[in-house]
Parts: sequence; C-alpha cells; structure tokens
Amino acid sequence: MENIRKPRGTMDIMAPDIYKWQYVERKLKSVASRFGFSEIRTPTFEELSLFQRGVGEGTDVVQKEMYTFEDREGKTFALRPEGTASVVRALIENGRCGDTYPIKLDYLINCFRYEKPQAGRSREFFQFGTEVFGSADASADFTVISLADTALRELGIKGIVLHINSIGCPACRPKYREALVSYLKANEESLCETCRTRMVNNPLRVLDCKNESCKKVAQGAPKTVDFLCEECSAHMNKLTATLNAAGINYKIDPMIVRGLDYYTKTVFEFIAEGIGAQSTVCGGGRYDGLVKELGGPALPACGFGMGITRVLLAMEESGVEIPSPETPRLYIASLGEAAQIWAQSEVYRLRSSGIYAECDTVGRSLKAQMKYADKAGALKVLIVGDSELESGRANLRTMTGEIGENSQSEVELEKIAELI
Ligand code: ATP
Ligand code: MG
Repeated sequence: MENIRKPRGTMDIMAPDIYKWQYVERKLKSVASRFGFSEIRTPTFEELSLFQRGVGEGTDVVQKEMYTFEDREGKTFALRPEGTASVVRALIENGRCGDTYPIKLDYLINCFRYEKPQAGRSREFFQFGTEVFGSADASADFTVISLADTALRELGIKGIVLHINSIGCPACRPKYREALVSYLKANEESLCETCRTRMVNNPLRVLDCKNESCKKVAQGAPKTVDFLCEECSAHMNKLTATLNAAGINYKIDPMIVRGLDYYTKTVFEFIAEGIGAQSTVCGGGRYDGLVKELGGPALPACGFGMGITRVLLAMEESGVEIPSPETPRLYIASLGEAAQIWAQSEVYRLRSSGIYAECDTVGRSLKAQMKYADKAGALKVLIVGDSELESGRANLRTMTGEIGENSQSEVELEKIAELI
C-alpha cells in the first residue's frame, strides 16, 4: 500500500526549522504588544457568505482560491483565506464595535487558498495580521505601517521597500473607474481572457494581474492618485508627511491596488528584493467600508497581512542568523541502574525548579551518553555511577565544545542545582 502524503501545498514544520518559525512569531507578537495590540482568535472556518461579502465576489480569492465545504447539515463553509473578514464579523457579532477607540487587534493564523504551489506560495500558509478600528485619521495607517516596518527591521530583513498608493474612496473612484475602463477598452486586445471580464466587473483588478502583457497595459493606465478627491488626497499627504517625519522610506507606487475588494484610500505593500516572484512580504491598507458592508456601524479601519514563509525567505536572503534554541544546562550521564534512577529523579527535580536538564532514557553506554550530551549542546555534564552515589561526590564537566579542553571538577551531588 502506498504511504499517505500531506496535501499538496501544505507543510510539515519541525526541528530545526520550527525554531526559526517560533523566533519570528515571538518577535512579531512582541512588537505588536509594544504597539498596544491585543490578540484576537477566530474560527478557522466561517460561513462562505462572509468571505463572498467581505473579500468580494469579484476577487481571485473568492472566485478561484477558496476551500469550501458543506457540513452534515448542508451549510456551506469556507476555510479562511485571510483574517480581516473574520475579525470584523467577530467585532460585530460580539457587540464590540463601540469599544474604546482605537481598537487594535493582532493575530497569527493559518489561511487556505487553492493556488499553484511555488516558493513563497502555498495552499495552507501562515499570516501575521493587525487591524485598527475606529480612526479615520492617517495616524492609524501610520500605526500599522510603522508596526510592520519595526517588525521587519527587528527581524533583520534588508532590501525591503515600502510601496504605498491611494486608491480613493466611493466619492472619487467612479471618475477614476470611468477613465480606467475607457483606457482598458482601448487596449483590450493586449489583455488576457480573465482581464477582459475583469475590465467590466472589476477594472481595478486588471492592474493587479500577473500576466506580462496585462502588466504592460497596466504600466500606462491612468493613476488613482491623479483622481483623488480633496479628502483622500489630504489623507495621503498626512500619511506621507508622518512617514517623512519618522524617517520611514517609501515609494509612491501607482501599481499597488491590492487583491481584495474592500480597500479604500491607503494601500501598501512591503516588497523584498531577491526572494523571487513572490516578493510581497506584507500587504495592507484602509478599508473604511467593510464593517458597514458586513452589517456593523460605519467604522473606519486599516490593517495588514504578513506572510510568515515570505518573511523567512527574506531573512534567509538577508543572511540573518536566527539564535539557536536553548540547550540543556546539565546532562547527567549515568552508569548502572541505581545511578540511572538517581539521574531521572535529579533531572526531574531540576526541571521542576526551572532548569533545563537531560539524562539518558534509552540505555546508552557511558561513551554514547557523552557523545549525545555534546551533540545536544549540554553546557555541563555530571558523571554518576555507584561509587559517586555512595560518596555523594561526582565529576562535573564543563563542555567547551572542543574535545580535550573540557574542564572538570569534583562537586557535591547535593549542591548540583547551585553549580549550574
Ligand atoms: P499575492 O499577490 O502574492 O497573491 P495577495 O495580494 O493575494 O498576494 P494578501 O491577500 O494581501 O496577498 O495576503 C497578505 C500576505 O499574505 C501576502 O503579502 C503574502 O505575504 C501572504 N500570502 C498570500 N497568499 C499566500 C500564499 N498562497 N502562500 C504564502 N503566503 C501568502
Ligand atoms: Mg494572491
């Protein structure tokens, strides 16, 4: 019989890679708490209609990438393809839209999208996200952008550029849309099949198409920034003034329009050089219409999603050395059954008092135990046999890593906790 394999586009993550993931996750959580964000946890699956309404019917995510299923009662659900729609639903459902503003939330979640797996693109992927609710001011945009900037910097990623754009609001978008559609119509023969449909249903999406020929058309398209109403343009100016004051570099990039439907005004991406085609490490923006769209009050909001796999790729590209996990402070090597039992109980005592200690549990020879302790990176090794148990004294070796340089001293077994 053939062995069962994991689903295409998913990952098994374990040592030594898991330490890198944990390091990144810890760092992201620590930066988020410093920015005053608190974690929110929502279900892995939701009613399909949440994403249809929240992400948008016209998006690739909803049209092509969703994992949907019917449960035994015939209700249709979807594995979450992103985090924002669920967070908004949760705020509305739990009556939390009126909490003291700004409401600052963060999450670390797995997301599911049926995509063609490649470097930096998988079917189950992990995302760190933040959302700020209750502020229409550019300072909220600045909060999330500066959070992402801080996190990426503290993770040691170099060569990452913040691209920002404004895609306007319901007041100024119709005029832009008109200009865009007539431009796209004039260039229809250069557009891919999908974009010819998009051109009618969701013209902004054409600017986001990855097809080379469509990209060329997009380059010459009218720019959203040239069509902004007074409010949107003041918002953009305040954001760039704040970024300037903070010394955060950015590039105004009219090509950034984002793949999800709900964005208004600010959209942004952090793009890393050198990690291949999937170079957007973090993407986000403002979505002032979403809460109302999902049945809540008119509540302005902004946020971002950051792909952990792409963060790890960018860190690797930047040559970041991730600190290795803690190693045992003591390994007790034992000879004989009485010593092995003593070692177990002593290690138990040390662990209970907060010390990382190890001993043999598979019946290795003394020599093999020493080798194991060295490989495990134990800082000290205590060697115990019958005579040591009798005298209450044993040799404590400090491992330096270099064979032969290990220093050794006789210690009292009673005092071992104090000596390590
Ligand atoms: P892309 O244009 O690369 O498909 P997107 O616009 O669909 O990205 P978002 O919905 O904005 O992506 O998600 C935010 C972030 O999540 C992305 O910037 C990326 O880092 C990560 N991400 C999105 N899809 C995937 C995936 N299939 N695999 C791994 N990471 C992903
Ligand atoms: Mg995508």
